Amino acid sequence: MTSAPIASAIEITPTAKISRETHGWRSKCLQRLIRMDLPVPRSFAVDCDSVRSISQGRPIPATELAEIFGGSGLVSVRPSAVSPEWGGPGTVLNVGINDALHERLTAQIGRANADGVYLSFVQSYATHIARLDPDLFTLDGPDALARALDIYRGETDEDFPQDPVKQLSEVLRSMARAWDGPTARLLRQAKGAPADAPLGLVVQEMALALGPGLCGSGTIQFIDPVTGTPRVTGRFRGQHHGQTVGSGAETLYLTQDDRGPALEDSAPEIFDELIRFGIASRERLREEMQIEFVLTGGAISVIDAVRTQRSARAGLRVAVSLARDGIIPVEEALMRVEPRALAELLHHQIDPRAPRDLIARGIDASPGAATGRIVFSASAAQAAQSRGEPCILVRRETVPEDIRGMHAAVGVLTERGGTTSHAAVIARGIGLPCIVGATGIVIDARNRTLRAGARTLSEGDEITIDGSTGEILAGAAVLLPPALDDAFTQLMDWAEDAGGLGVRANADTPEDALTARRFRAQGIGLCRTEHMFFDAERLPAMREMIFADTPEDRRLALERILPMQRADFTRLFEIMAGHPVTIRLFDPPLHEFLPSDRDGLRELAASLDLPLSDVTRRVEALTEFNPMLGMRGVRLGITVPEIYDMQARAIFEAAVEAGHKGDPVVPEIMIPLVSAMKEVELVRTRVDSVAAAVRNERRTDFTYHLGVMVETPRAALRAGDIAEHSAFLSFGTNDLTQMTYGLSRDDAGRFMGTYVNQGVFAEDPFHLLDEDGVGELVLTGVERARLHNPDITISVCGEHGGNPESIAFCDRVGIDYVSCSPFRVPVARLASAQSAIHRRRGR
Ligand code: PEP
Ligand code: MG
Repeated sequence: MTSAPIASAIEITPTAKISRETHGWRSKCLQRLIRMDLPVPRSFAVDCDSVRSISQGRPIPATELAEIFGGSGLVSVRPSAVSPEWGGPGTVLNVGINDALHERLTAQIGRANADGVYLSFVQSYATHIARLDPDLFTLDGPDALARALDIYRGETDEDFPQDPVKQLSEVLRSMARAWDGPTARLLRQAKGAPADAPLGLVVQEMALALGPGLCGSGTIQFIDPVTGTPRVTGRFRGQHHGQTVGSGAETLYLTQDDRGPALEDSAPEIFDELIRFGIASRERLREEMQIEFVLTGGAISVIDAVRTQRSARAGLRVAVSLARDGIIPVEEALMRVEPRALAELLHHQIDPRAPRDLIARGIDASPGAATGRIVFSASAAQAAQSRGEPCILVRRETVPEDIRGMHAAVGVLTERGGTTSHAAVIARGIGLPCIVGATGIVIDARNRTLRAGARTLSEGDEITIDGSTGEILAGAAVLLPPALDDAFTQLMDWAEDAGGLGVRANADTPEDALTARRFRAQGIGLCRTEHMFFDAERLPAMREMIFADTPEDRRLALERILPMQRADFTRLFEIMAGHPVTIRLFDPPLHEFLPSDRDGLRELAASLDLPLSDVTRRVEALTEFNPMLGMRGVRLGITVPEIYDMQARAIFEAAVEAGHKGDPVVPEIMIPLVSAMKEVELVRTRVDSVAAAVRNERRTDFTYHLGVMVETPRAALRAGDIAEHSAFLSFGTNDLTQMTYGLSRDDAGRFMGTYVNQGVFAEDPFHLLDEDGVGELVLTGVERARLHNPDITISVCGEHGGNPESIAFCDRVGIDYVSCSPFRVPVARLASAQSAIHRRRGR
């Protein structure tokens, strides 16, 4: 430790050398207010290096500090970290009060007020600096000050320090040390600060908020913190000087809008002046600010200004309105909005002002909040819907048969699963609020109850789920409606103009496609066709196809499905009106289409007119130990080629039909789960011959593109030769993550929390693309594919396509477009614009 004195505080003047990095945000902000000629009391900035030295025990030069006490004699000390979000030690007020100043103040503002100011400082000094028991200083009555000074003397064997410079030095030292403490460090790290984040301090002359005339302290803000619309709110506390409350204290609202007496009425000139300050600070600081002020005998002092706290929707409105008013450039407005916040605006949200009865938490799988009655089965959800009763479908995990129940519910909650489990993917696709992996709840399906800690809820009880935060609440919460307003539309327009990656939607149904168009997706990047086969009308034909003994029987069953598939695709092509539509050929294992319980098997045997034993044997034969790595995707397409033939025919016939009615359609057919070039060749040969047959039968020509889903590590490694046979590649990063990690996407939720908490994974790799591993495969695949086929279009259609950080990665490695759930299209659009802006700025 060295004993050389540190450089000390500098006065904050319009020209003083002050920066956010060296002195913290508050000093810089005060300098801006001073430059605007706002009535800021004399303020001094202690730079971050000095604070660090003070914390390490170096002495503070007393002579320089003495200058600070030139005015009222009282000063405040506030933290000034580099970012306001990082917080800092609590403000200390009334530094400098001693017996002599107390005497002067008594003459000026009366004994009671002067006592209050002195007592308040003794209390905070005794507790925070001398580290005495705060209970000893909880005193009141006319002799409270005298007793406090006595107790201080008794506890420390010293008189209360009378030298203002000593008081200030001790306060600075205690604040500097508090910043270095382990708890403060953890708190700020949780808010994104680096562990060694620096702290500056601001020492400011205090304006007295007690005494004759209009005195007091207040805050004023100029926007509604929830909606972001212009609205003046705030509070003025007359005769309030920090903790010291003088006689005649009263609270006024700022405007008449709020209930109660308003400053606007009792002091209109002061109110007008404050409004002028608000307008000026919005223009000069390019932000909506909350101003903290003090009135001393009717004279205003602006003591601080902070960015007004705001909700996501208010943040968006403020950014758009600042850009519309020419205060910030459009690019900056785009950069100020957090892409993720947009997802929330498309759905209901819980009103942040309302109370929450939290009972458990899970993984926030699909944004938005919903209130409904608990149901434990898909059929109960459908029954509730037919009664017009909103319900939340609560399941241990969902299976494909639950889709109808999910459509009938207003929200889904599962005990198991992770971000790419069935419930999560489907819910995001249809914009349904969803929480998965809620390990704190226990479902008792037999008794139809749900236990969360000590609470037991039954079917029919109301709950609220917040899919944006993962919170499960008892009862109904106050919900705010979606905010697809003009500010949102404007931001989306600007984002489109800013360029960046293309954004398509993953859409399987006409409703999805309509949502995708509403959010201005540039096409469908992934239509998962298997969901179309779960429909009640199609399932029997599908099951007949699976049980067919001969190719002829199979063909007959598929012929029944063909017109339905054709209608599906025609509708999608029509809705997408000439925008590209990528249809993925059938992917899941066949046993997903078969019942697993005894009753279901018996029903199936009856409907197929087969013996139960026969049906059971066939179902068992189709069951795989690990279906995710079994007879899925192209493997099924090659083993049972009639399915893909039927789908290709349905796609071509639909393209011809839709093309006759509207814009020409160039369908894109995508082969799933490829791992070898030969698979592509085999499928291509059959698809080409189906195309030739349809051209012949319809006497018309059409083009189509055949592409490959890269979702096995081998396909990424062999992307070069696969690309030679493909018009496009789309990285299915869900499966690619699953296979790269050897980690089942449906079971990962069980331990993902522990893994992330212990730092084994920085983040859930199904949520945020693992750039180091999976990303390496993507990069390798892109490079090899482009080397062999420079014109190839490459996309990402896994869930990562809607994740802002992963989109930035996609942009960096040269992906052409991302495709994500329709409700994430706006998020992806903004993230992609931000990535393009970053690139243009050379970062
Ligand atoms: C993927 O694996 O990333 C993908 C998009 O396909 P699915 O989620 O349907 O397996
Ligand atoms: Mg996949």
